[in-house]
Amino acid sequence: MTDIAFIGLGNMGAPMAANLLRAGHRVRGFDLNPALVAAHQAAGGIAASSAIAACEGAEVAISMLPAGAHVRALYLGDGGVIAALRGRDALLIDGSTIDVETARAVAEAAAAAGLAMLDAPVSGGVGGAQAGTLTFMVGGEAAAFARARPILAAMGKNIVHAGGPGAGQAAKICNNMILGVSMLAVCEAFVLADRLGLAREKLFEVSSTSSGQCWSLTSYCPVPGPVPNAPSNRDYAPGFAASLMLKDLKLAQQAAEASGAATPLGASAASLYQRINDAGLAGKDFSAAFTWLSAQTREVVP
Ligand code: NAD
Repeated sequence: MTDIAFIGLGNMGAPMAANLLRAGHRVRGFDLNPALVAAHQAAGGIAASSAIAACEGAEVAISMLPAGAHVRALYLGDGGVIAALRGRDALLIDGSTIDVETARAVAEAAAAAGLAMLDAPVSGGVGGAQAGTLTFMVGGEAAAFARARPILAAMGKNIVHAGGPGAGQAAKICNNMILGVSMLAVCEAFVLADRLGLAREKLFEVSSTSSGQCWSLTSYCPVPGPVPNAPSNRDYAPGFAASLMLKDLKLAQQAAEASGAATPLGASAASLYQRINDAGLAGKDFSAAFTWLSAQTREVVP
């Protein structure tokens, strides 16, 4: 049994903390929303009155927060978790999806305080968090990774050490840039097929077994029918919301700009998902890009 602090008990954090409890760990939970702390307590966890209180006596502190600004606010500064844990043998794990720069800055501050820290963003969504089948992409020192592994294994099944600090975030945004671009490519192909009078089932039959094959087509087809459990069959209920895809594509563009990488398709995907979100589809699955694209004309979206 490990004493764990869990900060951020939202859609992802709450079921992840519940899996740690199920694995027999003692979990002190904190969230800015008191109702979520109460739910954690009802699930068998310990309620903490602040992030620092949650970290008291913790061997491992895990955070699951919305964005980089929240992560900086939690860890850095005189009142932050790093200052509170300075000199203790604690391991810090941030599971939030954030910018690479923040992940590296926080890891550096932790190292300066003698603390091991990992960035460990996830894929698999709320369903994966509930089932304990998340993929963790982990950045940080090998020794810290080895220490984290059994804890992460209680929440996920695929745990990859991607490299040094920030490498977990880098892996996550590179993967999701592929996903955003490939989903749009598949949506465009179905839009064009519709206009050409080619049956959707026939395009699926051809492309799913030939060189157009990809996950967005064969496991997550954006038109209803060919893949029965894809969100397209349930009015695009997420799944993975278009708002989260936009967030990840923006993080990828931020990283591309900072590093000088040429990512023109990633940039196009980010601007198309911005328009899809602005059109009121932010809460729909990201494969609803198909419904938006099919309603456009070439004059509006060249
Ligand atoms: P969420 O908004 O449901 O939960 C975040 C929680 O953090 C909220 O409950 C909020 O009150 C809390 N919070 C914010 N600042 C805090 C602070 N200083 N102290 C304590 N609590 C604080 O978001 P989520 O869907 O659980 O996502 C969390 C992270 O996981 C995000 O970075 C997201 O991009 C990533 N992610 C989400 C999904 C998904 O499908 N939801 C999938 C993969 C990755």
